[in-house]
Amino acid sequence: MKWCFVPKCTNTSRNSLDKIFIIIPSNLRRKRKWFAAARKELKDVSLKTMFYCCEDHFNLKEDMENYMEFKLSKVRHVLSFYLYSWLNC
Ligand SMILES: [Zn+2]
Repeated sequence: MKWCFVPKCTNTSRNSLDKIFIIIPSNLRRKRKWFAAARKELKDVSLKTMFYCCEDHFNLKEDMENYMEFKLSKVRHVLSFYLYSWLNC
């Protein structure tokens, strides 16, 4: 099951089937940025854990040209990959 890493966000892949969950980069430097952005503490135990962020915290419709295409085809892994490169900062 995927769950959103943003504090107070209760979206999971179980209760929000239509939502897209973006994989947080495993690269430590990027991961720190994501956690800082979400005002969440990155603990030692979290370093190797896989985290996800739900689409609620993105403006996907404006940030992605082919958002609807992805949404309709539900090609989640391609979307994640796309965002992964897009968020490559
Ligand atoms: Zn969320």
